[in-house]
Amino acid sequence: MSKVTRRPLVAGNWKMNLDHVEAIRLIQDVALRLRNTDHRSVDIAIHPPFTDLRSVEGIIGADELPIALGAQHCSAHASGAYTGEVSVAMLARLSVSLVLVGHSERRLYFGMSDEMVAATTAAVLKGLLTPVICVGETGEEREAGETESVLVRQITAALDGVAKGSESSIIVAYEPVWAIGTGLAATTEDAQVACHRIREEIRSLRGEAADGIRILYGGSANPENAGDLVAQADVDGLLVGGASLQGESFAAIINSVAACYGS
Ligand code: PEP
Repeated sequence: MSKVTRRPLVAGNWKMNLDHVEAIRLIQDVALRLRNTDHRSVDIAIHPPFTDLRSVEGIIGADELPIALGAQHCSAHASGAYTGEVSVAMLARLSVSLVLVGHSERRLYFGMSDEMVAATTAAVLKGLLTPVICVGETGEEREAGETESVLVRQITAALDGVAKGSESSIIVAYEPVWAIGTGLAATTEDAQVACHRIREEIRSLRGEAADGIRILYGGSANPENAGDLVAQADVDGLLVGGASLQGESFAAIINSVAACYGS
């Protein structure tokens, strides 16, 4: 399967920003700015905080917006004494279809291990939602020349949570930690090399299924660099943090990706 047949995805990670009233405003603003050509060429998703999901679900449903609703995290457990956690089934009841798994902020600040990433990935797939598995090296690891080994370790571990034959149900996001929120995006070459390496590692473990998996780039993506990033052979879309918090910049990124993929 070539890049052309992998439909691009632009996903906005709102992180811990915007209460449910602000969330309603932003989703309506984004929707107004998007054109039919954007929706024809690009899949669009947003990942608001848990407390916003119900309100955003309401707007997406009422206005029939072709925007997928995502969560930023979930528990690997189905239910029980896990204070502060949210289960896959709870998210599914709110029409959530995508879940970020192993975002670097979960790994760094909340101790999410490779094993927890695998267990959470398995739980998301069991609940018939799509895990967006986040991998990426820190600045120190990059400087030590460990980028490739980190990516291989993280992707190998995450695939432990993916049953053979379920590979087409996952999305991967390459997010170099040093590029997140810094304004210093990876070069298009570095993004391509890393995404290609990830795809080849999946191929070595799971064969041809690797060609169908969408691999996103994330880390200071913006309207200026979006088109060049997704023009790379193995970059199938973007995970956008800061620039997804303004309707204007998020829509401009989607416009650029649509221009790259549109016929
Ligand atoms: C992210 O947190 O997933 C991200 C890509 O953030 P930013 O775009 O702000 O670098």
